Amino acid sequence: MSVQFHVLASGSSGNACVLDVGGFGVLLDFGLSPRQLAPRMQRARISWDRIHAAVLTHTHTDHWQSSTLAHLAKLRLPVYCHEEHLASFDPASRAVSALSSAGLIRHYEHGKRWALHPDCECTPISLPHDAAKTCGFRFEGRSWAIGYAADLGSWKSEIVRQLSDVDLLALEFNHDVAMQVKSGRHPTLIRRVLGDSGHLSNDQAAALFSEILKRSEPNRLKYLVQLHLSQECNRPELAQAAASRVLERVGIEMAIRTAVQGKAGPTIRLGQAATKSRRRAGRAEPAFSQPLLPFGRDGE
Ligand SMILES: [Zn+2]
Ligand SMILES: [Zn+2]
Repeated sequence: MSVQFHVLASGSSGNACVLDVGGFGVLLDFGLSPRQLAPRMQRARISWDRIHAAVLTHTHTDHWQSSTLAHLAKLRLPVYCHEEHLASFDPASRAVSALSSAGLIRHYEHGKRWALHPDCECTPISLPHDAAKTCGFRFEGRSWAIGYAADLGSWKSEIVRQLSDVDLLALEFNHDVAMQVKSGRHPTLIRRVLGDSGHLSNDQAAALFSEILKRSEPNRLKYLVQLHLSQECNRPELAQAAASRVLERVGIEMAIRTAVQGKAGPTIRLGQAATKSRRRAGRAEPAFSQPLLPFGRDGE
């Protein structure tokens, strides 16, 4: 069974990933419009006919767009969300009523595993981020597992447990604290981002990564994908350095890939030899043109 994880967009101006399990595609968040997604999907060699379901983490608008919800309704694809997410959708919208009447809005609950596909089960993980019911997910099949947590703010041991023993960990590395403090942003925004239900700093994310490594079987985790980097208050090399320090401390080499807002990527195929990547981490892919998105839809 081939399993691929594609980041199409990541950051406070729009998030979308695709998990492809043997041709069964799951769109994980849809914080870009279909038009914005198109070139990114093309770059990742994904087409809509490879998408079979969408899963929503939370309803900050960098994670869902009404135009993409309408597109999912047009394609008659199921949308998995928490019941409390519905309050953010416009009940008068044709997309929401079309999805609802076709039974295509499906609710998940924290901690309750369900099967998206015979070889892909999904367990929602409750995260402290400040939207109604923010979730991370553990996706797993017979011989693979992926952990995904893009908006946290803080973490506890229960989150460590749920993200342990995966092959690929996709995790928020949002900001550098000093850059955030000196950013000149409104103090309320700085307080929110630094707070326990805002976003994880590089150091907080590195500490979580370290705990997950300690709790996991040796050599199980092969890829770290760094997500949701702030464009104003972080740099890929700072996020990579924070994760690399953890690897150096525990004496492990592992692939680190850093997603940036302006272009699609990385794409990771599980089972392929992981490139020892501290040298290659965050290596720029060819320039990719993307319409400028409004900044800070996650308030960050
Ligand atoms: Zn976000
Ligand atoms: Zn958010």
